[in-house]
Amino acid sequence: MKEKLLELLACPSCGGDILLAYASKYEEKEIIEAVLTCQKCSREYKVERGVPRFAALDKIEHDKAETAENFGWQWTHFTQEDKKYAEQFLGWLQPVKPEFFKDKIVLEGGCGKGRHTTLAAHWGAKEVVGIDLSAAVETAFAATKHLPNAHIVQADIYKLPFKRAFDYAFSVGVLHHTPDPKKSFVSLASKVKKGGAISAWIYGAENNEWITSYVDPIRTGVTSKMGQPVLYQLSKLPTLGVFLASKLIYKPLNKTAKPLADKLFYNDYLNHLSTFGWREQHNIVFDHLVAPTAFYISKSEFEDWWKEIGAKDVEIVWHNQNSWCGFGKL
Ligand SMILES: [Zn+2]
Repeated sequence: MKEKLLELLACPSCGGDILLAYASKYEEKEIIEAVLTCQKCSREYKVERGVPRFAALDKIEHDKAETAENFGWQWTHFTQEDKKYAEQFLGWLQPVKPEFFKDKIVLEGGCGKGRHTTLAAHWGAKEVVGIDLSAAVETAFAATKHLPNAHIVQADIYKLPFKRAFDYAFSVGVLHHTPDPKKSFVSLASKVKKGGAISAWIYGAENNEWITSYVDPIRTGVTSKMGQPVLYQLSKLPTLGVFLASKLIYKPLNKTAKPLADKLFYNDYLNHLSTFGWREQHNIVFDHLVAPTAFYISKSEFEDWWKEIGAKDVEIVWHNQNSWCGFGKL
C-alpha cells in the first residue's frame, strides 16, 4: 500500500478518515504490514502483504465468498498474458478511449488479478484503485506494486472504504456476479464526484436465453459446486467444442460467406471468440461454469440503473449481441 492512498480512504462503517496507526514492515516506499485506524470510530483495519483489508472472506455471506473464492482461484491460475486484453477492455468501455484516463482518479469495481488496473495506470490515470473481494488481490498487488499510480484494496463493493473522490469508476464483467447487481452499481457510482463518469459492462438477458435455460442449471447445480481443479480439467471438454466450431466453422464462414454465417447459432459471439487462442477460450468457458451467482440483465433493467444514479449523456451499446456496455456522466 502506498501512503498517498490514505487520502482516498474512508471508514466503511462510519465514513471517517483513515489514518496509519503504525507500520511494522515496509519494502521501499510500500507499506507491507500495518494497522490503519478510523479517526472517528477507532475501528482498526489491517494491511497484510501490502494490501489494506476492509473485508475478510470469513466474515461475508456464503454466496459472495464462494463467488470471490472461485474467481480468486481462477485469477491465480489463468496467468497467461494476451495482447488482445487492451483491445477487449476498450470494447467493454466504449466509447471511452485510453486518453480519457489521463490525470483522472479512477476506481475499478472488481479488479481480479489487476489486468485492467494495470492498463488504466499505463494510460496515465493520476491514481487508479482496484478493489476485489477475493484472494485475487494478492496477484493484483504483485502485478501492480511497481506502478506509482496503482493501488489494490480488498473490499466489499457494498461497503466501499472510500471518500466520494473519484473522477471515473468502471466495472467490467463483475456486477452480474454480485448478489444484487443494481445495488453494486449504485454503490460504485456513489464514490464518483459530481461531473465524473462511470462505465459498466454486464451480461445481457437478450440472446442469452440458451444460457439461462441450459447452462445455468448445470452451473448452479453442478459445476459451481465442484472442486476448482476438477472443473478446470473438465471444462476443457466444452472448450474443445467451442474452439473447433469457432475456428473451423464460424471464422472461415464469416470471411467467405457472411450471409450464411449470419444464420449460424450465436454467430457474432462465436465469431468474436474465434479470434482468441485456446487458453483464453478455456478461461471464458470456465468463467461461465464456475460462478455460483450470475445474472443476465435486460436493456430496460440496465437503463433503470442509470436513471437510479441520475446519470446524464448515457450511452448504452449492445456488445457482441449478448452483453451491455454502459457509459454515463454524473
Ligand atoms: Zn469509522
